Amino acid sequence: MTSASSNTAEQSPRLSIVIPAFNEEGNLKVVYAELHRVLEPVEASWELIFVDDGSSDATWCLIEELAHADSRVKGIRFSRNFGHQYALLAGLQASTGAAIISLDADLQHPPELIPRLIEEWQKGNKIVKTVRLDPEKQSLFKKLTSRLFYRVFSYVSGVKIESGMADYRLMDRQVLEDVLSFREEGLFLRGLVQWVGYPNTSISYMPAERFSGTTKYTLGKMVKFAWHGVSSFSIVPLRIGILFGFIASAVSFASVLYAILGKVIEGHTVPGWASSLAIISFLFGILFLFLGILGEYVGRILLEVRDRPRFIVSERLGISDVLPRNDMKNRSPGPRLP
Ligand code: UDP
Ligand code: MG
Repeated sequence: MTSASSNTAEQSPRLSIVIPAFNEEGNLKVVYAELHRVLEPVEASWELIFVDDGSSDATWCLIEELAHADSRVKGIRFSRNFGHQYALLAGLQASTGAAIISLDADLQHPPELIPRLIEEWQKGNKIVKTVRLDPEKQSLFKKLTSRLFYRVFSYVSGVKIESGMADYRLMDRQVLEDVLSFREEGLFLRGLVQWVGYPNTSISYMPAERFSGTTKYTLGKMVKFAWHGVSSFSIVPLRIGILFGFIASAVSFASVLYAILGKVIEGHTVPGWASSLAIISFLFGILFLFLGILGEYVGRILLEVRDRPRFIVSERLGISDVLPRNDMKNRSPGPRLP
């Protein structure tokens, strides 16, 4: 028996599975059936928490149907779409298992991997990450932008994340308690999980095609997610502003010197209002860019200070009434396990 399993209360399942779902009506029954099939031979004690992130299709009806048929299935419904990371967070907050696995609803994260995740956890790994290998069919744009993002992210934050390390992972309850103690806006869970440390390992897998429907991560959501990741882990973008400031000052000092010395020594006036205008516009461009970046960071401070709940739950199924209905951001993190 692992230390993790001895930590949990008697009635808690050994394994919690958390699945965020936004308009995933075509996938829920299949993902449930797949999980059932995969878990049956390896783990009898489990719960499955679906978090409906403000879907406008039949996602919630299906969660209700599954929960009525199998009491191990639980549901959380958001009052509107709050985003994948918060849906994941809500499910993690409600989970009670000794180990918690999160995965997507669209079967791109193969449930067949779960027995291996459990095996690695039982060997003593507190976090078992998964790394998605590049599928041949993936678009070049997504492949390149994803690689570039994780390289830049790892460089500026000092937290190493490989491209393909998404939110399909197993966490021991001890790790989860730590992750839940972070109360920040613009959550970037994959970074936080890396940041907390602990013995961990990773397993690579080839992702399947999305079973039904289309991606729910629009370009806008992806850019927002990437920015939340960088800005919550690093202030390097602000420092780049200082570097540019130094370079621009040095260049303008040199050109003033050149103009003065030209006049004094050789008696000529440096011509060129056009080049001056170009330099001024260039510098103003950089100035506004960094003002914008600064504004983004100030905006994040505002979001933190306002201290609003990060999501609102409208309905719950099978979740203990003892748990607060909404985000636990303003509350104490609860009893800390030894
Ligand atoms: N998702 C969510 N809220 C959102 C966007 C996505 O809960 O606003 C869920 C979605 O239902 C899926 C997971 O997050 O279970 C990953 O989304 P998706 O498969 O669309 O992303 P992709 O695999 O295309 O990057
Ligand atoms: Mg997907």
